[in-house]
Amino acid sequence: MNTLTEILAANKKFVKELPDEFVNYNTSSIPKRQLAIFTCMDTRLVDFLEPAMGIRRGEAKVIKNAGNAITGPFEATIRSLVLSIFELGVNEIVVIGHLDCGMAHASSQELSKKMLAKGISQDAIKMIDKELEQWLDNFHHPLDNIESVVYKIRTNPLIPKNIPVHGLMFNPHNGELQIIVDGYKHCENT
Ligand code: ZN
Repeated sequence: MNTLTEILAANKKFVKELPDEFVNYNTSSIPKRQLAIFTCMDTRLVDFLEPAMGIRRGEAKVIKNAGNAITGPFEATIRSLVLSIFELGVNEIVVIGHLDCGMAHASSQELSKKMLAKGISQDAIKMIDKELEQWLDNFHHPLDNIESVVYKIRTNPLIPKNIPVHGLMFNPHNGELQIIVDGYKHCENT
């Protein structure tokens, strides 16, 4: 069995035995808690972060990427946040980094080497050289990253000033959250 057949087999069983909580769960794409969570793609957060926050299906938008990074003024996460705010009723944002984030050990040089070794062309890597550096070599510690990402979102001219942007650190070993930035202290009450 390959991965795809495994997934499809699991899905067949899941749909057949669909738990009541999913059958009768009246939900929509509008998040009930009017909340957007922006976090890392780390596998240890799957099935762990949301329950650790008391967040259930239908309650929040969850946006993920490697190292919960913001790489430009209108990059993918900002786009998702803009849509969440103006189309889907989100009025609060939580940025969540985590301890032991793999991004802290990543480097553009190492990644380029691995890409070359796997047959990616030198030209293709050259095309993204500068971006690769900016993205990977500036991530030193998940804590600094949370502060910087919260700042980037809060000061982005596309994000309304009355939206609190919080920063939290998650411990992927015991599920504990620690506050790094209290967004209420920085937002304008309008
Ligand atoms: Zn991470």
